Amino acid sequence: MKKEQNILQDTFGRDHTYLRISLTERCNLRCTYCMPEEGVQLSPKSHLMTYEEVFDIAKTFVKHGVTKIRLTGGEPFVRKDIPVILEKLAALPVELSITSNAVIIDKFIDVLKANGIKKVNVSLDSLNKEKFTHITRRNQFDKVYNNILLLVKEGFQVKVNAVLMKDFNDDEIIDFIKFTKDLPVSIRFIEFMPFDGNKWDLSKMVSYKEVMKQVNGVFSETDVIRLQDAPNDTAKNYSIKGYQGSFAIISSVTNPFCDSCNRLRLTANGQLKNCLFSSTESDLLSKLRQGKSIEPTIKKAVQAKFKMRGGMDTLEKLQKPDLHGRNRSMITIGG
Ligand code: SAM
Ligand code: SF4
Repeated sequence: MKKEQNILQDTFGRDHTYLRISLTERCNLRCTYCMPEEGVQLSPKSHLMTYEEVFDIAKTFVKHGVTKIRLTGGEPFVRKDIPVILEKLAALPVELSITSNAVIIDKFIDVLKANGIKKVNVSLDSLNKEKFTHITRRNQFDKVYNNILLLVKEGFQVKVNAVLMKDFNDDEIIDFIKFTKDLPVSIRFIEFMPFDGNKWDLSKMVSYKEVMKQVNGVFSETDVIRLQDAPNDTAKNYSIKGYQGSFAIISSVTNPFCDSCNRLRLTANGQLKNCLFSSTESDLLSKLRQGKSIEPTIKKAVQAKFKMRGGMDTLEKLQKPDLHGRNRSMITIGG
């Protein structure tokens, strides 16, 4: 008998085992690289997935082989029913994790623990309070910084995401790495990526190469240790000899990792995106609400996945605003 093709395998043989679910388009910060100053057009509440719908859609993906789910947003903790969502999803046989700006995460430590969440990614783009306020357009540095320390103390595996921007925080790369000397966190430097309304241009981006140039200028060759990356890892991981933590670089712009991509994204309004950079979306929520199977839509979306960065397979294409501007702002995709 012919084996039925997995609906989560694309035409390049990539199996999609990792689903990132955005729970909300709202946020208690306003990061300049993530959303335009004027804000974004929010979906009406009735267009957003309820917690039951999040669970139903997630269950279908798990049935077809998803083993990892990460909750994101907007800021997932601004959603009032986050404890119920965590509880429902924790019942599925998946590794559940969450990405947060950590502004209010201290109120949810027990909920996270009760639902078996061990991995938390936190955004922190500067170790300098004034710069943090500038980039997030909100004065919440102390909360975020202290909550990172709290998460570590409470035993979570913490990754700290910093989007690097030229002449803004590229002078902090070494400070960030030194932050891992006594703190077992992984600092992940992310190349600034283009999305609708974030005023991206290549000259603002700090590349993988530039990060390593700074690292190699300060630390000796024998002290910089290249770590083994996890399978499907988007980051290249390093540590400094004797440091408790590590650092990594996510080079989606200069060195994309599309060949081993295993990710799909579900937006808060129930649209499946087959790639972070894709300008097309597939409406799972309407199908679900009509009582129809969402599986054919999932299959079609996965089959339509481009080999690389939503079809923007060269840096030249990625730089074209008419191409990357067709995509949503990051805040409404779920990074
Ligand atoms: N609010 C949570 C947070 O900030 O971690 C979760 C959502 S946020 C959209 C997820 C991740 O996307 C964050 O680490 C953020 O730094 C990253 N991100 C947003 N816009 C980006 C951009 N233009 N380039 C690179 N990373 C970006
Ligand atoms: Fe909010 Fe996260 Fe976007 Fe910043 S990066 S505006 S914290 S969703």
